[in-house]
Amino acid sequence: MNGRWPFVLFAGLLLASLLLVGGLGRTVFADLRVLSTAQNDDVSWTMSQLEVELLRLQNAVLSAQADDAAGLGEVRKRFDIFYSRITTTRQSAFFSALAEDTTVSESTAAAIGFLDSGIPRIDGSDERLRAYLPMMLSNIDALRPKVRALALAGVDHFTTQETTDRNRLSVTLQRLAYGLTALIAVLFLALASLIQLYRQGQRASQKREQARARFEAVVSSSLNAVLVADTRGNIVEFNGAAETVFGYTREEALGEDMSELIIPEELREAHREGLKRFVRTGKKRVIGAGRVRLKGMRKGGEVFPVELSISLSEASGETVFVSFLRDITSELKAEEDLKDALEKAQVGEQAKSNLLTVMSHEMRTPLNGILGSLELMDQSDLSNVQKRHLASIGISGELLLSHVNDVLDLSSLSSAEEMPKQAPFNLKELIQDVVESLQGNATQSQNALSVDFLTPDLGPVTGDRGSLQRCVVNLVGNALKFTRGGSVAIEVERLAGTDFIEFRVADTGVGIAPENLSRIFEEFVTIDTSFDRENSGTGLGLAITKRLIERNGGELEADSLLGEGSLFTFRLPLPPVDDAHIPANTGAQSLPALPEGFQALVVDDNDINREILVDIVRELGGYSHEASNGYDAIDLCAEQEFDVLLLDISMPGIDGLETLKRIRGAAVRNTSTPAIAVTAHASTSDHEAILAHDFQSLILKPVRRAAIHSTLAETFGVAGVNLTSTSWPQEEPEFLKRFGLERYTAAMQETLDEISLFLKDKNESDPLTQPDRLEAHRLSGSAAVLGWMDLWHAFQAIQNAPETQWGAHLKRLRAEFERVFPE
Ligand code: ADP
Repeated sequence: MNGRWPFVLFAGLLLASLLLVGGLGRTVFADLRVLSTAQNDDVSWTMSQLEVELLRLQNAVLSAQADDAAGLGEVRKRFDIFYSRITTTRQSAFFSALAEDTTVSESTAAAIGFLDSGIPRIDGSDERLRAYLPMMLSNIDALRPKVRALALAGVDHFTTQETTDRNRLSVTLQRLAYGLTALIAVLFLALASLIQLYRQGQRASQKREQARARFEAVVSSSLNAVLVADTRGNIVEFNGAAETVFGYTREEALGEDMSELIIPEELREAHREGLKRFVRTGKKRVIGAGRVRLKGMRKGGEVFPVELSISLSEASGETVFVSFLRDITSELKAEEDLKDALEKAQVGEQAKSNLLTVMSHEMRTPLNGILGSLELMDQSDLSNVQKRHLASIGISGELLLSHVNDVLDLSSLSSAEEMPKQAPFNLKELIQDVVESLQGNATQSQNALSVDFLTPDLGPVTGDRGSLQRCVVNLVGNALKFTRGGSVAIEVERLAGTDFIEFRVADTGVGIAPENLSRIFEEFVTIDTSFDRENSGTGLGLAITKRLIERNGGELEADSLLGEGSLFTFRLPLPPVDDAHIPANTGAQSLPALPEGFQALVVDDNDINREILVDIVRELGGYSHEASNGYDAIDLCAEQEFDVLLLDISMPGIDGLETLKRIRGAAVRNTSTPAIAVTAHASTSDHEAILAHDFQSLILKPVRRAAIHSTLAETFGVAGVNLTSTSWPQEEPEFLKRFGLERYTAAMQETLDEISLFLKDKNESDPLTQPDRLEAHRLSGSAAVLGWMDLWHAFQAIQNAPETQWGAHLKRLRAEFERVFPE
């Protein structure tokens, strides 16, 4: 609007000037017409002729008096002319303007009187007229001064009138001149602005021309293919790079339908639709959407990937699409290669991590066996050298076990997605417990270990107790490890007004060089110091600690001076809670006490295994009798009644199955004493076969105290036993530990569904097919991963079952499934 107002103003001025000039012109014309009209002239002339005509009448009267016969005719003619002049004068508009004038009216009245008195004589006979002539002459004489006065008044008035008209015209003409001057001024202004507009237009077109030239230069030199198409889809510009990419020359491409030329057939329809939609509705999808990846087609029909961006532009008032395109064939290939490489690396990394996990896990079990056996070994008969060797084995075993545990912890921390469990606990108590448990280490390394609670009433907090304990143990353990004859001080303080508690572990040990300070948190990094060699760590402790702290929403920092000592500081969100929220101290899972002094017969040909069993039974308050083979066992059973029989299955001579059979068959004692099989057989078919005999339950080697405790508790039917009927101790499944509750629940649901389906499909009376065995094998794997050992047994049994016994196993599986997962 702002830019248009001068035009509106000009147009207004021009119109006003034109109207003004037009109006004035019309007035001039009207005035001129008035001036130019002959009527006034005629009247004034007629009036001025009145006296002449009267004189002519007088002459004619005089001539007629001289007895001129023809003279009377002339008198009549002249009388009529005078009459006509007077009538014309009276009837004219000009005359009416004079009517007010007394001289005029008197003179006119005199003339009319003269004429009125003359008319009857004029129209009468010649004698009558002749007789009237002398009187007529005297009337004419009397009338002459009046007629002159009339003529003079007419001329006078006419002159005045004319002067007025002329003055008016002159005023109008003056105004017209002003109007015309204004009009000319407006026209000049209009001309000036037109010139300015023209110049502006020229400058704009120059700029446009420059922009166009620049655009053309950019387009032609662009490394990207540039295509410009109109709204009909026809190509109007095609640069050099486009020629290279698509294989058409510019001449070939210009004017062609873009979709036919460079768009692969399968995309053509969509392209046309999109174009139509844009023209119809103005809706854009690809246009202005930045870079998109599509496909293009070369002259030879080859389809290739392109990256393009399309924008809208105006060219000569018409909308055009400007497309910048790039052939990204090699780029995609590189991306693909990179992705492959990454995937391979990830798979490799995963495989490595899996191997590490599995190996560590597999190593832990035999290691526990070795360490357990070492503990139970009676060293009284050994020489000092042998004892030292055994001590070395113990130390190395412990170290190896801690390394294996570290690796397992790290891999479980890497894959755990879930937030750790948050529960209320007593912070002060926990720290004091840790310090107490590490006092032994401190004494060993001649260090003073102290703890200082800087916030006086710390009170209970909520958080992940296990992680915190682990972190403190790791940091204090390290501090003690790398300090000799110094001090290790722990400080605990709530950061004022926050949920955070800050823990500081300071030592006066060897310290860490600045260049190593950032590395120590990396995995498998140990700094080469004499202490380190002495301690031979895995370099995982700090990595695990850092991850644990970060997973709990905290942070860990280290500060150190080489040779002076180190300070490890970490903050964890541990909001305070009420005392009431702390659960009663449950400690480790408490198992019920077994009947005091129960009598157990332990039968195993392997001395170590037997000893472990005997020792555990003793620990559990029982009394053990031992036999190293089946025959001795049968003999012992014939001698006394036992409360429980723990029978190894694989024994030289008669095996556990046969031994039990014979004990039962002897029908002397122990015919119904509960028997527990102790076996290293991994296969479930073996387990099934064992359980199919008279064994009540089965314990797997390497035996664990908890497993024996729970199995015996179950055997004796001790009240309050909160264990499953299986002989397998229920540990938190590895899967759950590793992948968290959410994935565990999902996998559980999926497996439940699969098992239900399996049970629905199978019938005891049907023969067991190979696919059935394979399915049972698959499901047993799933059950094992999820920690459902009973179901694992049942599926293993089916998998290995002879064709005839399959029905029974299926029945057992059904029962087991219903028991574990009631509808
Ligand atoms: P490791 O389990 O082998 O001890 P860590 O990850 O716990 O591994 O520690 C990595 C390295 O950091 C150690 O080898 C040691 O050199 C250094 N370090 C850790 N704590 C201390 C400390 N308190 N004083 C000196 N050095 C330490």
